[in-house]
Amino acid sequence: MLKVSLIAHTPDPERVVAAAAKLCYSNAEIDTLMAGLTPEKSRDFVRMLASMGHESPTEHVNFTFAIEGVSRSLLAQITRHRIASFSVQSQRYVRLDAFDYVTPPEVAGDEEALAAFRQAMDSQAAEYHRIAALLKDGHIRRLMQQGMSEAEATKKAEKMAIEDARFVLPNACTTKMIVTMNARSLKNFFRHRCCNRAQWEIRDLAEQMFRLVYAVAPALFEACGPACAYGPCPEGKMTCGRAAEMRAKYEQIKAELNGENAQ
Ligand SMILES: Cc1cc2nc3c(=O)[nH]c(=O)nc-3n(C[C@H](O)[C@H](O)[C@H](O)COP(=O)(O)OP(=O)(O)OC[C@H]3O[C@@H](n4cnc5c(N)ncnc54)[C@H](O)[C@@H]3O)c2cc1C
Repeated sequence: MLKVSLIAHTPDPERVVAAAAKLCYSNAEIDTLMAGLTPEKSRDFVRMLASMGHESPTEHVNFTFAIEGVSRSLLAQITRHRIASFSVQSQRYVRLDAFDYVTPPEVAGDEEALAAFRQAMDSQAAEYHRIAALLKDGHIRRLMQQGMSEAEATKKAEKMAIEDARFVLPNACTTKMIVTMNARSLKNFFRHRCCNRAQWEIRDLAEQMFRLVYAVAPALFEACGPACAYGPCPEGKMTCGRAAEMRAKYEQIKAELNGENAQ
């Protein structure tokens, strides 16, 4: 199951962004830069920047997420975001004795498709283990012929075998990662991935990430989410046609997190 937590972020993110803005727009001295930057004043600076489209000061604050229970398919999509840092669990070194996998909800909701999906996962797991075992035996033989002890050869052979056997693992296979993005990059990420046109798994993740950062820095992430939540839909003829619904959804999420009732 998808799990995401915000494990760290720049302390006082809105105050840090406000300090950068203050430095840009006044003759502030660095010794007194932070003075007077109350939460209210910081929010005003952050909102002023957003209204002007001056986004670079928001690059000074970082947010780090721990993510697990997501598919390798999601991994391929999230790592397309270049303005981010990633640390991903390696399949080269982790033995996947009984690999976990993500079942798409549409598959889970169709009995026949689900049975076929499970069968595919089981057979891929069996082939993975078969290939790993075959390769491992061959590697052990060769390494021992080269003079390595049996214990040493077995350890090395396992790593070598896993490295090649993993080529048969499916996109559905789960992975874990640590992701860090600054606030500007997160805004771009939410714009693309909270959108209805994004694939369901990364959209679920993006929505949860949005909730986590909005709870920490509401002014900074006020005009964030799918593009249609705070402006026109940019998808042209590919639009889902549900902009009003999405806008209402994100207003509701923000109201919930602000402890209000948007009804
Ligand atoms: C619905 C959807 C469908 C998609 N379908 C496909 C697909 O079919 N095939 C495919 O390959 N990808 C696809 N993508 C991925 C998409 O093309 C982007 O690679 C991905 O969303 C990362 O976005 P980004 O470049 O804005 O983010 P980042 O890489 O984080 O970049 C952030 C911003 O920095 C700037 N930037 C970064 N690098 C450069 C650069 N080299 N030059 C100039 N400006 C730069 C840009 O303004 C960019 O928006 C899809 C994405 C979505 C949301």
